[in-house]
Amino acid sequence: MRAAGYYRPLTSDARSEQVAVSAIERYCDEGLHNLTQVFGPGDPPLSDVDQYAALVSYLESLGRGEALVVIPGTRHLSSTLDGLVDRLAELEEVGGEVRCADPNLPHPLQNALESLPFAGRPPVQNRRVRESLMSKAARGEVLGRTPFGYVADVDGTFVIQPLEAVVVRRLFALYAGEPPPDDVDVPGDPDPRASVPTGGPGLRRIAGLFNAEGLRTRSGRPWTPVTLSGMLRNRVYTGSYVRYGMRIAGNHERIVERDVFNRAQVVMGSRSPQRKRRVLKPYLLSGLARCWSCGRGMHGFERNRRWSRVDGSTATRAYRYYACPSRSTGVVDGEAGEKEEHPGWRESDLDQAILDALRAASAEMLKDCFNPPKDTTLDDELRAVEGQFLESVRLVASGRGGVADLLTPLDDLRTARAVSASDTSGDGAVFTFENALGSLETAEPRALRIAITSLVERVIVHAGRIEPVFRNV
Ligand SMILES: [Zn+2]
Repeated sequence: MRAAGYYRPLTSDARSEQVAVSAIERYCDEGLHNLTQVFGPGDPPLSDVDQYAALVSYLESLGRGEALVVIPGTRHLSSTLDGLVDRLAELEEVGGEVRCADPNLPHPLQNALESLPFAGRPPVQNRRVRESLMSKAARGEVLGRTPFGYVADVDGTFVIQPLEAVVVRRLFALYAGEPPPDDVDVPGDPDPRASVPTGGPGLRRIAGLFNAEGLRTRSGRPWTPVTLSGMLRNRVYTGSYVRYGMRIAGNHERIVERDVFNRAQVVMGSRSPQRKRRVLKPYLLSGLARCWSCGRGMHGFERNRRWSRVDGSTATRAYRYYACPSRSTGVVDGEAGEKEEHPGWRESDLDQAILDALRAASAEMLKDCFNPPKDTTLDDELRAVEGQFLESVRLVASGRGGVADLLTPLDDLRTARAVSASDTSGDGAVFTFENALGSLETAEPRALRIAITSLVERVIVHAGRIEPVFRNV
């Protein structure tokens, strides 16, 4: 496999450069990789950002061709765990697969858990976790050397495990769905749009289906979307196997036909990450907005609308709404059905209405209502988000899912940090009235939400208008 080396000067020791280069060369020799280029700091040394940019443009110049990026250790790519995840994701995007030359820890996330700090904590605290992962792996609980669907033969080659293979085939068949009707081979048909499959049910539904049938993972746990997505990405099921950048010799029998596998990849690409992010984006007024009539909390939800274009193709778009749960089902447009007693609003309209109400209120009045969130709220939230991020990294490091699965946790982490940082005004990190007013001017959802809850106890929602109930009034 084609490989590019990459290292940064980590110490002032003149020999360290040589050590780095020879570690990269040794790794490529042993794996029979074709080392085409080594990116060092150069003389005069490039900044970290510039050197990294050079690597990215090199990978881009390969035109989506895959290449290994071999680094001596993860500290050469980033000084923090989250910074590393960010770069791994970007490199993967341009076709770069990162491996560490350290023979004990070639997997970059496993390597990073061992050597990079996170959230101000030294890596030694992450190591404990890795050890427990490894001991689980030794017991075959997490890292099972053979992927679900196979057992290892005495000589280490994969042999199909018939019962598990049935589950694997069903997963791919369900998720990939039927081939698009236009996909009949029309010789010379140049229209690529014609062959975009729509796919079957989503991962959550498939996991639910499997679990309802009593199917379990090898470790006896229920199926989750993360486990299933890891399987859907795993090329092992087409008969090829790459581990830590080395192709394992011996072509084992495939469980999934290549066209089904490829279709599943297209479907997965079309569904994530935009879709995943939309689902996870919180509703600004959830828990705050209440129906004027029955007092129940308004629910935030998403609906996909489909329509036909003039040229006959169909388009879909997701719309977000709030509606009273008592509202008769199916009436959610916000345009029609306003005679309903229980309100339903487009998300953007309701969010805008409360912001308008707050911006129209006098500063004196708002100041009287202001109740800072408990000092610990923001910190707790940040700790929780950090914990979720670390947990996601551990899961992927243990072989479940890929770097792309870390993008949403990384986004959440950044948002939580931005809010927390914008709030640290002075020594006490107290959320002040001025912070609240400032946040009302931003479009950043978490900051907005904190600002709104510091001023408003709840929002009574009618059809077509709202009534904020201010605090302390
Ligand atoms: Zn209601």
